[in-house]
Amino acid sequence: MLQRKLNVANLSTPIQKLETLSQTLGKDIYIKRDDYTGTEISGNKVRKLEYTIQYVLDNGYDTIITTGAITSNHARATAALCAKYNIECHLVLRGALKAFEGNLFLDAMLGAHIHVIDEHQSREKAMERLSKDLESENKTPFIVPSGASDWIGAHGYINAFEEIVKQADELNVQFDSINLAVGSGGTYAGLWYGKYIHNLSTQIIGYAVNESASIFKNKVIEIINELDEDITTFDTLSINDQYIGLGYAQATDEELQFYIDIAQQEGVVLDPTYTGKAFRGLVEEIKQGKYDDQKAILFIHTGGLQGYTEETRARIQRLLPTFNKDL
Ligand SMILES: *Cc1c(COP(=O)(O)O)cnc(C)c1O
Repeated sequence: MLQRKLNVANLSTPIQKLETLSQTLGKDIYIKRDDYTGTEISGNKVRKLEYTIQYVLDNGYDTIITTGAITSNHARATAALCAKYNIECHLVLRGALKAFEGNLFLDAMLGAHIHVIDEHQSREKAMERLSKDLESENKTPFIVPSGASDWIGAHGYINAFEEIVKQADELNVQFDSINLAVGSGGTYAGLWYGKYIHNLSTQIIGYAVNESASIFKNKVIEIINELDEDITTFDTLSINDQYIGLGYAQATDEELQFYIDIAQQEGVVLDPTYTGKAFRGLVEEIKQGKYDDQKAILFIHTGGLQGYTEETRARIQRLLPTFNKDL
């Protein structure tokens, strides 16, 4: 296990009770605000990057190459930390460039070198090629996988699990489950491994936002085995892929309406790519009785508000009866 990490995230993040929803659903629903970890470095990625960037600094690399979607939260958090620690930052972003907004805007403002590839190209191959080019310029690049989801980054959520155990004690609740969005698997892997080493019965329940449950289970097992090759039993891995809907960063009107309802009931804004889908999954599954044996349920808000693109904001505007002026 890695001992050294940066201390740049605002930790511990608070755990709050969602009062209205708890009453409607007859459960104690809590939310852990990992969207409060920072501004440029908000969300779950900074917990992972505290380890990744420390590792890069300790091992003599001067350049980072990483990847994600055009709207990637991970890319933006990496760009911010690279600026702070004087590391050259290269982002391989996949997709169509639509507008200079959100995370892409921040990436550029934070000084990252941006390389756009299209949907059909391999991100890994593009990063390998770039790495060779940079080496030929006498740079020492380190490739960080998508979402910093490897054994290094997962340490951030082993820590977060320990933080939750302490907070549960202070709040005098026992969480029956910790629920979260799964986009590249590192957050899930860290939490699961944290629960494993503490030998607790808390269930770790993931909601996939893009790939199937079986793809994510394999990915998570791979990361956990990088941390501890002796673990062979994974029957407590629980990843639900029934709430992906139209796909990565795509939302139906019904989903958008759900995010509006939660915002207006609880004062909490979920993001349209990760937390919105996962939280909707959680609420649906509770309504269907899948959590009947549970009382205290924790959801981790992993951030992502920059994901409300101009396109999505315009669709939300049309769904808001209190705001129907033409702008
Ligand atoms: C990346 C991300 C996730 C998913 O975490 P993984 O570790 O990649 O599975 C969830 N929520 C937000 C806002 C993210 O940016």
